[in-house]
Amino acid sequence: MGRLPGGGLAKGLAVTLRTMTRRSITRQYPEVAPDLPPRSRGVIALLEENCTVCMLCARECPDWCIYIDSHKETLPAEGGGRARTRNVLDRFAIDFALCMYCGICIEACPFDALFWSPEFEYAEYDINELTHERDRLREWMWTVPPPQAHDAAAEPPKEIAAAEKAMARSARGAGGRGAAERGAGGRDGPGRRP
Ligand code: SF4
Ligand code: SF4
Repeated sequence: MGRLPGGGLAKGLAVTLRTMTRRSITRQYPEVAPDLPPRSRGVIALLEENCTVCMLCARECPDWCIYIDSHKETLPAEGGGRARTRNVLDRFAIDFALCMYCGICIEACPFDALFWSPEFEYAEYDINELTHERDRLREWMWTVPPPQAHDAAAEPPKEIAAAEKAMARSARGAGGRGAAERGAGGRDGPGRRP
């Protein structure tokens, strides 16, 4: 069957009309801030107090865009023990011109020192300016959203469970010591022999 003359034009106009009557989804950024999900992968924030300079993140990064420098510090011996050495962080930087936002560094960090922040307004005119140093990475920690609350029926978070266990253990220890002391000195204590 042959095509009707002008059929293509009518089809094109129909698409134009359909699109014209749809609501626009354009966001007027920067006048109107985008409504991003709180867990968006905007930038990587560093909690440097938690960083032990173990280098795992830098080693696992597929782009080799994490730069870490450190030096060793000797801590004086305490209570007759040997002097200890520890790593002190001198530089922690991420080149966001190379980073592909895979999140491997955050997953690999065993000390909870790296987090996703939804912050995204760090564009620069010069690509060399996209390497951000530890102070800027630390500042972004303030924009990291708090962890989501667990389901009411879920087990308590590991950290809280571990802290509660330690508290219960120390309370049991104190209680046991108290009972032993009462037993040794009291009239009806278990330490009193007939
Ligand atoms: S998100 Fe991926 S590419 Fe970016 S610094 Fe971390 S490991 Fe490297
Ligand atoms: S893996 Fe974590 S603790 Fe280790 S160097 Fe990287 S940020 Fe620091």
